[in-house]
Amino acid sequence: MLAGGMAQSSTEIVICGAGIAGVAAAYHLAVRRGVRDIVLVDERPPLTLTSDKSAECYRNWWPGPGDDMVALMDRSIDLLEELATESGNIFRMNRRGYLFATAEASRVGSFIGAAQEAAELGAGPVRRHTTASSDYRPSDAEGFDPALRGTDLITEPSLIRRHYPWLAPDTVALLHARRCGWFSGQQLGMYMLERARERGVRLVEGRVERIDTAGGRVRGVDVRTAGGMQTLGTSRVVLAAGPYMKHAGRLLGLDLPVFCELHSKIAFNDALGAMPRSAPMTIWADPLTLSWSNEERAELARSARHRHLVAELPPGAHGRPEGAGESTSVLGVWTYDVEPVEPTFPPGFDSAHPEVVLRGMARMIPAMAPYVERLPRCFMDGGYYTKTRENRLLSGPLPIQGAYVIGALSGYGMMSSNGAADLLADYIAERPLPRYAPAFHLNRYDDPAYQKLLDNWGDSGQL
Ligand SMILES: Cc1cc2nc3c(=O)[nH]c(=O)nc-3n(C[C@H](O)[C@H](O)[C@H](O)COP(=O)(O)OP(=O)(O)OC[C@H]3O[C@@H](n4cnc5c(N)ncnc54)[C@H](O)[C@@H]3O)c2cc1C
Repeated sequence: MLAGGMAQSSTEIVICGAGIAGVAAAYHLAVRRGVRDIVLVDERPPLTLTSDKSAECYRNWWPGPGDDMVALMDRSIDLLEELATESGNIFRMNRRGYLFATAEASRVGSFIGAAQEAAELGAGPVRRHTTASSDYRPSDAEGFDPALRGTDLITEPSLIRRHYPWLAPDTVALLHARRCGWFSGQQLGMYMLERARERGVRLVEGRVERIDTAGGRVRGVDVRTAGGMQTLGTSRVVLAAGPYMKHAGRLLGLDLPVFCELHSKIAFNDALGAMPRSAPMTIWADPLTLSWSNEERAELARSARHRHLVAELPPGAHGRPEGAGESTSVLGVWTYDVEPVEPTFPPGFDSAHPEVVLRGMARMIPAMAPYVERLPRCFMDGGYYTKTRENRLLSGPLPIQGAYVIGALSGYGMMSSNGAADLLADYIAERPLPRYAPAFHLNRYDDPAYQKLLDNWGDSGQL
């Protein structure tokens, strides 16, 4: 202990935050790049702020402009496959796909356009299924076939009914994106953390309160721990602070261009077996106007928070079965009203949300209608999507020597963290960078051409 009660030690790299971003960064640096002497600092137990609230899905299905999102995500999924293979699939990665469904014939054109765009961006080929004798096959429930990519587009009603008899009978088209599925995010995170600790990564419980940048370069990090303040001398710090990224940036005197949205999900017991246990992630692609009784309508109209629920709500009600073995749990998500907010913990969720999500899901899966009449017990949780304005993550150096960022992982951090951490590790280990690196560098905002693109940015890919 030095004078003033400040303990001092020095280390190669300090990572601030042990969510999936910080854990993946520690793993890729220590295990795959051989960097020694890394300290991972978090004031909470690892993977407990946002990274245990996710729906744990993944997809290589992302809109443009450009193919950078698809390329980064394909790299991330390659890495997930490697980890699954070497670990005996300890995190139960599957490849059931994302199944988009519509009951509006007018949407078929946009399905075709989206599938063609995905193919052009590298997500894999389009296969059309227009006859009852088509060779379309749903995915296996468990495991993953690495060759399965691209999109199947089904417009033959008897084929839809044969494979998905539980979907609304008026469903006219399905788009099945195949290099997609889900896994246990907690198991993945713990697996990477254990491997990283075997390679010497140390966990320190405490809060990063100050970063010393005297002379314009990182020199040390002050951490408040239960035992007092500790100074870690270091020339490199990685910000992986999740929803506190804005705050972490300020420790470096930077105003990082990120904001937060509160997102929730529900889990309920599907006692009626409305959704088969082998179902893919299933998404209703049509906007919905929910049917309320006159009494309910009047009540909703009186509430400023709920008034919009009587109007048409955006597309995207979705869900999937959750859990192995005898589990009858189903997850439901529907993002119909988000806005930028200051992150506060614990977050407050709207008590009307489970009913709205169930109503949306019952439109897609009619056997869920009884749940709207008599709500099952719903478990609701969630957290903050930390985002840049165009919903593309940040991974790479910051404009202070020795400072790096991995964050703004939005609603896709479980699936992208390996790709993002692999990219970050290439910067730090001074390896050749992948061609998509500039798309995730903070300095993209300094480029006038990129600023122009931002003005007319289309779909952000958020579900
Ligand atoms: C409802 C919901 C559904 C989602 N569904 C999916 C999905 O299906 N697929 C998918 O890929 N992603 C999904 N996500 C997104 C995913 O969960 C996040 O992108 C991811 O967890 C973000 O990880 P992170 O490490 O950046 O942040 P976090 O997990 O929040 O970790 C940040 C850590 O930094 C620590 N920290 C911050 N500041 C400091 C400091 N000064 N000192 C010390 N420690 C600090 C915090 O304590 C925290 O532990 C979903 C998210 C939500 C909310």
